[in-house]
Amino acid sequence: MFQHITVCLDMRGCPNRCRHCWIGHAPNARLPKEALIALAEAFRPFAKRLTVYDWYREPDYGDDYREMWELCGRLSDARPEHFELVSFWRLARDPDYGPWLASLGVRRAQLTLFGGRARTDQYTGRANAFAEILQAVEVLLQNRIAPRIQVFVNKENLGELAQVEALVRDLDLEARCRAFGEDFDLFLHPGSCDGENEKLYDIRVTPEDLEKIPPALAARTLRYLQRESLQQVFGRTEQALCAELRADASTASLAEPNPVFYVDAAFNVYPNFTAPAPAWRLGNVRADGVEAVLAAYAQDGSAAQRARRTIPLCDLAAAQGDGQSQRLFGRDDYITYLLNRACR
Ligand code: SF4
Repeated sequence: MFQHITVCLDMRGCPNRCRHCWIGHAPNARLPKEALIALAEAFRPFAKRLTVYDWYREPDYGDDYREMWELCGRLSDARPEHFELVSFWRLARDPDYGPWLASLGVRRAQLTLFGGRARTDQYTGRANAFAEILQAVEVLLQNRIAPRIQVFVNKENLGELAQVEALVRDLDLEARCRAFGEDFDLFLHPGSCDGENEKLYDIRVTPEDLEKIPPALAARTLRYLQRESLQQVFGRTEQALCAELRADASTASLAEPNPVFYVDAAFNVYPNFTAPAPAWRLGNVRADGVEAVLAAYAQDGSAAQRARRTIPLCDLAAAQGDGQSQRLFGRDDYITYLLNRACR
């Protein structure tokens, strides 16, 4: 019995195929609502409080998004939150979506840019993504929702940050958000190094790249993330992290008292630590049952959890790290990167 379980079913997938996607790419499914109802019933005996989501990739992607939102509310003890996560695909297509988000009390919504038009289309994985994001910005503003821009930065798009700065200025986002009492926020970050993102390892930023970041975007980033320096945002070199971890013989259990689970369209269950890859699979709801899945989670039973609990960090770093690399990482992201490599 867990205090609180959150379970997220990948019922519709995602219209995008982002190159930075830490969840990774998978085919889109079309599961009926009965699948979500059955999943909630299967988990309910094992949680004092249950929260159910009908997505873990793109929120509100299905045309029945309002019905699914209501259903998730009915199946949950703790009502799901919408957070600042919205579908720009739907914002560009569905005139009812912006007003609906506003009716839920959404006041800020996150959108992702990678630079200019071609680079954003390339990194989002489909044509017209940039144009749709601009459309989404207008719809959000019409509904008094402040767009918040995040930009994943690597060596390939570093030179396009000035275009992002110019776009923010041309669209007058600061003043237009202020007009309805919201701050406009923008932040840069390196992204994790798992899922699709791991393929960008070779072009992760290195310390000298931080000096090329436009000062205005650096200032916005530090203000939003409440950090003192870009180094705190982008992390330390792999060389420094490797040296630190090589002196650290600790292991860890990753099981938590209030877990969040991703359930894919074939009902395989994964903890939400990183991409739902085979090494993290806990079992299958239909073939194994929820009790066995939860026991695997609690006992660090997936191959990746077992590796983290039994392989000291010093061995992980020695076997998988590059002690000369100047690429920048956050410490936790770097450990996850090492762990995923070791499991493969
Ligand atoms: S990052 Fe989000 S929007 Fe992009 S492919 Fe992954 S789930 Fe879809």
